[in-house]
Amino acid sequence: MKSHYRAVVIGGGVVGCSVLYHLAKRGWSDVCLIERDELTSGSTWHAAGGFHTLNGDPNVARLQEYTINLYREIEEASGQATGVHLTGGVMLVSNKERWDWLKMAHARNRYLGVATELISVKEARKRFPIMDEGQFVGAMWHPLEGHLDPSGTTHAFARAARNKGAEVVRKTRVTDTRQRPDGTWDVITGHGTIQAEHVVNCGGLWGREVGRMAGLELPVLCMAHQFLITEEMPEVVAFNKETGHEIVHCIDFDGELYMRQERTGMLVGTYEPHGQPWSPRVAPWDFSSELLAPDLDKIADNLERAFRHHPALARAGIKNVIHGPFAFGPDGNPLIGPIRGLSNYWVAVGVMAGFSQGGGVGLALANWMVDGDPGFDVWAMDVARYGAFANMAYTNAKVIENYGRRFRITFPNEELPAARPLRTTPLYDRFKAMNACFGAAFGLEQALWFAPGGKKPVEKVTFRRSNAFAIVASECRAVRAGVGVMEVSGYAKYEVTGNDAEGWLSRLLANRMPPQGKLALSPMLNEAGKLIGDFTVAKAADERFYIFGSGVAEAYHMRWFEGHLPDDGRVRVRALGAAMCGLTIAGPQSRALLAGASGEDMSNEAMPFLAFREMDIGLVPARVGRISFTGDLGYEIWVASDYLLTLHGILTRAGADFGLAHFGGRALMSLRLEKNWGTWAREYRPIYGPYEAGLGRFVALKKNDFIGRDGALREKEAGGKLALVCFTVETRDVDVIGDEPIWHDGKVIGWVTSGGFAHWAGKSVAMGYVPREIAAAETGFEIEIIGKRYKASPQRQPLFDPDGSRMRG
Ligand SMILES: Cc1cc2nc3c(=O)[nH]c(=O)nc-3n(C[C@H](O)[C@H](O)[C@H](O)COP(=O)(O)OP(=O)(O)OC[C@H]3O[C@@H](n4cnc5c(N)ncnc54)[C@H](O)[C@@H]3O)c2cc1C
Repeated sequence: MKSHYRAVVIGGGVVGCSVLYHLAKRGWSDVCLIERDELTSGSTWHAAGGFHTLNGDPNVARLQEYTINLYREIEEASGQATGVHLTGGVMLVSNKERWDWLKMAHARNRYLGVATELISVKEARKRFPIMDEGQFVGAMWHPLEGHLDPSGTTHAFARAARNKGAEVVRKTRVTDTRQRPDGTWDVITGHGTIQAEHVVNCGGLWGREVGRMAGLELPVLCMAHQFLITEEMPEVVAFNKETGHEIVHCIDFDGELYMRQERTGMLVGTYEPHGQPWSPRVAPWDFSSELLAPDLDKIADNLERAFRHHPALARAGIKNVIHGPFAFGPDGNPLIGPIRGLSNYWVAVGVMAGFSQGGGVGLALANWMVDGDPGFDVWAMDVARYGAFANMAYTNAKVIENYGRRFRITFPNEELPAARPLRTTPLYDRFKAMNACFGAAFGLEQALWFAPGGKKPVEKVTFRRSNAFAIVASECRAVRAGVGVMEVSGYAKYEVTGNDAEGWLSRLLANRMPPQGKLALSPMLNEAGKLIGDFTVAKAADERFYIFGSGVAEAYHMRWFEGHLPDDGRVRVRALGAAMCGLTIAGPQSRALLAGASGEDMSNEAMPFLAFREMDIGLVPARVGRISFTGDLGYEIWVASDYLLTLHGILTRAGADFGLAHFGGRALMSLRLEKNWGTWAREYRPIYGPYEAGLGRFVALKKNDFIGRDGALREKEAGGKLALVCFTVETRDVDVIGDEPIWHDGKVIGWVTSGGFAHWAGKSVAMGYVPREIAAAETGFEIEIIGKRYKASPQRQPLFDPDGSRMRG
């Protein structure tokens, strides 16, 4: 062990070893991994070693595919066997909803390039002979499934890294990490202190505890998980003899089981509904290469189902029970990346499927450290998708909820109940009394729709149109016909001040900054010229700007803003969170309503489109921007949170004469579709460039230099590879959700980013990316929704207000 390294990786599980390998592969050979005990002595050694590409986020699915394809490479680079058995696997479903889900997963695999097949139950049984056909309605064959030797694989990563110059130090515990004033880190171990330019927390079971050494409370929790291995089963032996190959992997979704052959028996794992956390507050340091005592009682219901679904298991003896902890993030996806406000500190924790995800996590993190960018769209794994709201109690509640739902469907309109309500604005109780149906984003409760006539605001979960369809339709119509009000406190709001505020923003954002009293829309680009943000910028005063953006990306954007602030304090940026709240009013009567409520001249001359000014609305001092994501004539009204209730009261009273209706987030998402407007994390993500996304008109290449300008210029000149296209889809009773394949002339050529029913226009709409060469085609498009292809026609002009006269008039 040396006294100085470029990077120190803490933790020698599969994830730490993968990070080490990828750093060394990228040319950072002055790197060292510190392991408390032996490699694999956290959760890695007792894993079942299964892998697959299945993930709710297609970008994570791609990185899982990378991981699986990596095993051959690290075997060659290390000379160490990984024991990979690429058996393929069947996914079994027992009800219609799951079957629909499987059809969608299969469809998505078309553009991911994973050759899954939907197969009959009979066909599935040929590959997985212990199942009872009568328990299932359908299956999917997944070729990229299998299992490996967890220890061999981890050692293969470590050896391959060593072969490229990296060092591995075992039997050395890191007891503290302290940052020096120059930004480098002291990594304090039982065998001395190391100075490192970068620290990577791959602490696995102790990821949270290692984080605490740097003053972080990372949102991870370990859960105690069990699988069992049966004695030899005659059914397995007979199958092997008859076919000459082993039984394939199996995920039985409704049984909540995963299974595979282990020697001449079966390995059966299960996620029980009421999972038990391991060490909910502090993980013990003396836990090493140990297992928890078997507890078959807690999985008794699941085992009963296993015996019903796969009767041969009921006759098999149990040879071994593996019961051990492993770490999860609140939504089940890993937490990777740099930490906001802590330079050169990186995490790769909560990796719950280390053998499906470890390779991709290592690659993305190493790219990020070396290039300043992960090189992929890792939003779904980015540690910055959580903010300060994700404290220990939140995390523990969410992880327990997620664990119990591991094999359950989360419907696109489903709002999960754990850890709620957490963040609320002053309007929460009032909206509750008005029968709002709430959803939570970034921990904040937001009204999705309002149940009329005293009905309970309960939305039935479905992949199709829900009971809220007609309600959302009437909210949309009310906006377009008169005026609606919606709370927009969930948007992220930032204040940028200082004598170089304008110069700094102009270097950070791609568009020109607005003059005082005006708004401008601006993308934010990374160094490669790809989209990492999409904002409305308001110039409130000479040295004060407000920026409005996506609420869920607040920590993500603050990390970028703070990471690019000058050191001399010339510019200050602060996230206003729920301290600044907002209401939007939109629709043809919104001008008259606001004029009445404020007594101000709201004419187009006095308050034109994109104007931004301070004004009193009755008693309430407010900042008002003439802009609305509904695409209609409309205003966003921003106030300090203690004025919100009063403002709402003033607007509702003034609105009574205009038939003011409340609308929620669902209606907003429908209304924006009628303008062909995309949203952050759907249409706008770091895999797309601004011209591809149709935001080119907001990129001012001729202004001062700005981050991503060269990349944007190259994209403009080359035209980009992809193009965002808006379609109307000929469906009757179903709409896209997102991630459906787009077909053209019988071939899958793109994917849907979002869509739904545009209620005012009365059309089903989808937005998605297709290759640029095909984007101009007027015919030949189809979109596959739940296993059926529907004709789709490009909708070049917005369905609502195509010339903008209503919005600007
Ligand atoms: C029963 C069970 C079955 C599973 N089955 C599968 C499966 O089939 N497929 C799959 O992909 N995943 C499976 N998993 C999950 C898998 O084990 C994890 O995804 C994986 O082990 C995570 O690896 P890691 O490197 O992040 O963490 P860990 O393996 O926990 O590694 C962390 C390492 O960091 C070291 N460390 C921590 N703190 C310090 C410190 N302060 N100083 C020095 N060293 C430190 C630890 O000693 C440890 O070796 C299973 C887990 C369990 C419990």
